[in-house]
Amino acid sequence: MGMIMGHDAVGSEFARESNDGQIAVRALLSAIVDSSHDAIVSKTLDGIITSWNGGAEAMFGYRAAEVIGKSIRLIIPSDRQAEEDYVLSRIRRGLRVDHFETVRQRKDGSFLDISLTVSPVRGAQGTIIGASKIARDITERKRFEREREQLLAQEQTARMRLNEALKARDQFIAVAAHELRNPLNVLHLTLQLLQRACRDPQRSAQALALAEKSQLHFDRFASLVDRLLDVARARSGNLDLYREDLSLSGLLVEVASRFKAERPDILITVETGPDIRGSWDKLRIDQALTNLISNAVKYGGDKPIAIAAAADAGDAMITIRDRGIGISAPDLPRIFELFERVAPGSEGGGFGIGLWITRRIVEAHGGTLRVESEPGVGSTFTVRLPMNARSTD
Ligand code: ADP
Repeated sequence: MGMIMGHDAVGSEFARESNDGQIAVRALLSAIVDSSHDAIVSKTLDGIITSWNGGAEAMFGYRAAEVIGKSIRLIIPSDRQAEEDYVLSRIRRGLRVDHFETVRQRKDGSFLDISLTVSPVRGAQGTIIGASKIARDITERKRFEREREQLLAQEQTARMRLNEALKARDQFIAVAAHELRNPLNVLHLTLQLLQRACRDPQRSAQALALAEKSQLHFDRFASLVDRLLDVARARSGNLDLYREDLSLSGLLVEVASRFKAERPDILITVETGPDIRGSWDKLRIDQALTNLISNAVKYGGDKPIAIAAAADAGDAMITIRDRGIGISAPDLPRIFELFERVAPGSEGGGFGIGLWITRRIVEAHGGTLRVESEPGVGSTFTVRLPMNARSTD
């Protein structure tokens, strides 16, 4: 606004005209300031507000009459008061503060993001007498930026999870291929021996012994193929349930006795109380319980396993508790993912399909599968099955 004119140097006519001009320009500038959507404020070197335009009134909620004569610190949040010391120190040295992005507080206590430009104001003698500041509301922009950052972070997490899933699947393919190859080798060998046995009957005993031994490999082969078929069915949402009236206690005892026969060295207890009946798919529930108990055996460190069933709030609640290696907190959500094996390569380690399919089976019955675990202490898996069918199948 440097329009100060030397009155001595001009004629009175001109002086009057330029005076008029000055007044017109001042009025124009004042109108511009007033109509601006930006907050335009001036203050003394001590931070006392000397002018406050309409933009500032709208932005901060204070009327000009309320704040003129008061400290600008009024709109500075308590944890940002040091910013004013910094701004004033620059102004006193004749320096500007340009597009400083910060936060200010409205009269109603809410916060807004602003971009601030503060410049020194010089008096007639050129000395700095105060500062003018222009604040622009950038709340919308900041919100947009935050949303974009959030979206980017979400996208990155999704991409990371996808990569992990792909890695898990590749590992699974490698393990599964290996598992499928073994029985084929055994089959090949058995056939060769049988051929020789045809020519040399003395070898037939040897061939038969090998054929018997191979049975184990074929069982594993068949179970892997079954599991793969299950995954394919469950993935396409075709996990059909064949409900029948089922005694859960009877089923639990039946499943547990299979494991007891297989692993007589492990103490497996079943506590069922009064019989619990419901309309469930026997084969699928058998499969789910088998998966959970086989994990308890696999990861239970040969320590006792406690299986219990009870009726609870309209649900059959089954718990399978082991005292084995346990699962660390970060691994807990992962164990239900397809092909996830927390301890791959561990003794008898599987394919990371069991818990995934178990959860699908339980959920198809309208139930839930939860786990509580502590590394070195053990794990408890809890299945809840509604006794009155409210299935999602
Ligand atoms: P797997 O066929 O590999 O056992 P699951 O889906 O049944 O696949 O289990 C996924 C992973 O969860 C296992 O590889 C194992 O690391 C962990 N896990 C499952 N049950 C238990 C348990 N009772 N104790 C400790 N870890 C377990």
